[in-house]
Amino acid sequence: MKPQDKNLVEIQAQWVTVRGRIRQKIGDAQFKSWIKVLVFEDYDDHKVTLSVSSNFIRTRVIEQYLDIIKSYWLVENLKINDIQIIVSKKDSSKDSKKSVGYSQKNEAKNFNDQDVFKSISSDLDSRFTFSNFIVGKPNELAFAAARRVSEAKDVPFNPLFLYGGVGLGKTHLMHAIAHEIKKRNPLRRVIYMSAEKFMYHFIKALRFKNTVAFKEQFRNVDVLMIDDVQFISGKDSTQEEFFHTFNALIDQNKQLIISADKSPQDLEGIEERMRSRLGWGLVADIHPLNYELRLGILQAKSEKLTAKISENILEFLAHKITTNVRELEGALNRLSAFSSLIGSEINLDMVQDLLKDLLKSSQKKVNIEEIQKKVSQHFNIKMSDMSSARRSRTVARPRQVAMYLSKNLTSRSLPEIGRRFGNRDHTTVIHAVRKVEELMNKDASFDEDVQLLIRMLES
Ligand code: ADP
Ligand code: MG
Repeated sequence: MKPQDKNLVEIQAQWVTVRGRIRQKIGDAQFKSWIKVLVFEDYDDHKVTLSVSSNFIRTRVIEQYLDIIKSYWLVENLKINDIQIIVSKKDSSKDSKKSVGYSQKNEAKNFNDQDVFKSISSDLDSRFTFSNFIVGKPNELAFAAARRVSEAKDVPFNPLFLYGGVGLGKTHLMHAIAHEIKKRNPLRRVIYMSAEKFMYHFIKALRFKNTVAFKEQFRNVDVLMIDDVQFISGKDSTQEEFFHTFNALIDQNKQLIISADKSPQDLEGIEERMRSRLGWGLVADIHPLNYELRLGILQAKSEKLTAKISENILEFLAHKITTNVRELEGALNRLSAFSSLIGSEINLDMVQDLLKDLLKSSQKKVNIEEIQKKVSQHFNIKMSDMSSARRSRTVARPRQVAMYLSKNLTSRSLPEIGRRFGNRDHTTVIHAVRKVEELMNKDASFDEDVQLLIRMLES
């Protein structure tokens, strides 16, 4: 077999796959009328030629299905850069004058290199920019590293490995890098994709025995970003391929940016050599958000909303919703939608009601027992003293702090809090809360202590 023929066989096999996927997408009836009738004619110089029996069908296929065919075919093979539909000579006797052949090839829209990269690369969210990213202590390192990579002409560190819990801004930062790089130099080729998508394409390439074409896709890339690599853990062949692609690109001094939910050392189901290689460049983690950053994000996001949400509500949300930015956003959006619905500003009662589910899930995070434990550790007393009858200052003060925190960080009622602290009366709890508030106002170092405890408990 000549190499060219082999190529043709591969392309025909791809056409079978492409048709199958289109069938799934458009359903049997449409498929039968418009796709099944397409006959594979030729492949030459990155151009596929398909034929149909009449001009009518041709026009309709071009109008309705050419884009789908192109995009599905690109998934299979990035080298395809033109698809043309002709009216086959055999069957076109009726309209032979109008028969369209190679001469009208430009009617099938051409696509250029950039389109090819765009198609393997996932879409970027236009809102995920650096200017929309709020920076605070928990994410400042990741932010600085991301900026550096996007501004550098060379490759400052390779790979850049970003990690952190869900909803903390990893994907946002990666998209921001891509936007910035393209803004600075539109010709740089950037591929952003999830590890899942990488895996999907690779497994497909294996099945159709075109792993060479798969690799080819990455050969000319300048920056490759793979999001959520934890998804390829345990998938041996994908991991192997990823590792090779990764090494090859690093050897060519191409920038790689990887994200995951854990640090390279903590990633499970990842081969040791890969794990160590992932940690070669700069590893930047995004910590759980602290109160200041949560409030900052809420303030920035609420400015963009049409509905006005008051500062004390933002503060309330920043206190209560501690999990991640996605939930903060969700809360804001819900409030804003409601506010425009009722046509007035929202108050705290409405907030409590509207966000019941969100508030509950984040309240669950801290319970009284945890508070008692942390506070005892912090002040170096015994946990049992949280409910003992001892009244000396060394144990009474920490106990009051723990009551104060229980009141502020959980949804427990005053009587219930009292019960959990050695069956004390709810007036004792009220007294404790007042006392702690008073001390926090008077004594800066005490205030700092309490703030620190809150941060520890909330993160
Ligand atoms: P991850 O990929 O870490 O799970 P995302 O990047 O998808 O998280 O972020 C979730 C949402 O929170 C997105 O809408 C994103 O824009 C927003 N977000 C996360 N961090 C920040 C931040 N520091 N400033 C502004 N928005 C943020
Ligand atoms: Mg993400």
